[in-house]
Amino acid sequence: MDFEDFLQDLSSLEVISKDNHKISIKLKGIPLQYSNALRRVCLNGVPVFAIDTVDIIENSSVLPDEGLAHRLGLIPIKTDLSRFNEPAKCDCKSEAGCSNCKVMLVLDSGDADTTRTVVSSELSSEDDSIKPISDKVPIVQLAPGQRIKVECYARLGQGTEHAKWNSANISTLTETDKEDERILTVESTGALTPEEIVLAGVEEVSNRLNDFKAMIGQIKE
Ligand SMILES: [Zn+2]
Repeated sequence: MDFEDFLQDLSSLEVISKDNHKISIKLKGIPLQYSNALRRVCLNGVPVFAIDTVDIIENSSVLPDEGLAHRLGLIPIKTDLSRFNEPAKCDCKSEAGCSNCKVMLVLDSGDADTTRTVVSSELSSEDDSIKPISDKVPIVQLAPGQRIKVECYARLGQGTEHAKWNSANISTLTETDKEDERILTVESTGALTPEEIVLAGVEEVSNRLNDFKAMIGQIKE
């Protein structure tokens, strides 16, 4: 059976269990190579948002600018795939990006009165749907009188480029005792729902196979 035939019938994805973070799906009659491709794409091939560039306006904390930018990049960001494009695939064709491929988040801690931890809830996004998945991610500790003020730009990316764009924490394939039947388990970072990851993963595998076929076609000509 071809991966594309399997795509015709998404009902062949039998959901065994799911909650907000994790989904387990039975893959039946799908060749191992396709099942494994889907597992890998669910891990790092489905685009999610992460902060990519940071303009540091003020940083009097003890954390160097690079460290601060790195910490901001690792905060999982809620992602809406229906409204945004990956920059390379965006119609704007611009390095600067546009409102369809880039979202600005700003954070100004103000001068700290006491020693305190700046957390992700202090990031304010220009787009309500693109913001940290949790309010409680610690970013940096400030001593009295210290302050950070930053402008961050988040964009869609894939985990193959940098792990901060991984769509899942865990993506595993386990054999069952039945022939040609495996269980795919995907645990989301929270950027997307587990179902969104699997559905986008199926589409991505299919696109890659089509691109590959087209490439082979060109070589033959
Ligand atoms: Zn754009």
